[in-house]
Amino acid sequence: MSQTDLLVARQASRRPLAASRRPSSQIAILSCMDARLNVFAIFGLAEGDAHVIRNAGGCVTDDAIRSIALSQRVGGTREVVLLHHEDCAAVADPEADLRRCLGRLKSTFLLPHTDAIRGFLYEAGGALRETHPEE
Ligand SMILES: [Zn+2]
Repeated sequence: MSQTDLLVARQASRRPLAASRRPSSQIAILSCMDARLNVFAIFGLAEGDAHVIRNAGGCVTDDAIRSIALSQRVGGTREVVLLHHEDCAAVADPEADLRRCLGRLKSTFLLPHTDAIRGFLYEAGGALRETHPEE
């Protein structure tokens, strides 16, 4: 039996999807995919509260921008949170990368809403530290 078979066998929830596709918080979160980051637990979110987009490093790639643009245009989100973390396997200097990512996201012309984009570094001890874009 594969790990996927085990996942399917232990499906814990069979609730139907909520009627609204729009996150109640109007927030989109772009996070590193690291399995140690439980984005919902870190921010106290429940299902339906936020769009969560994940990739290696939480990098602002063209695909991540496309996802955030759809989140804003179709999902009604207005704020974006970038979440990077210490001890990231994908990024050598996560704080510097977060600064670059914030700058790139704030300067893209593809997003209708760029006035509420913030970035946070999740420290190894569990604290969040806000980081600001490169000047
Ligand atoms: Zn990571």
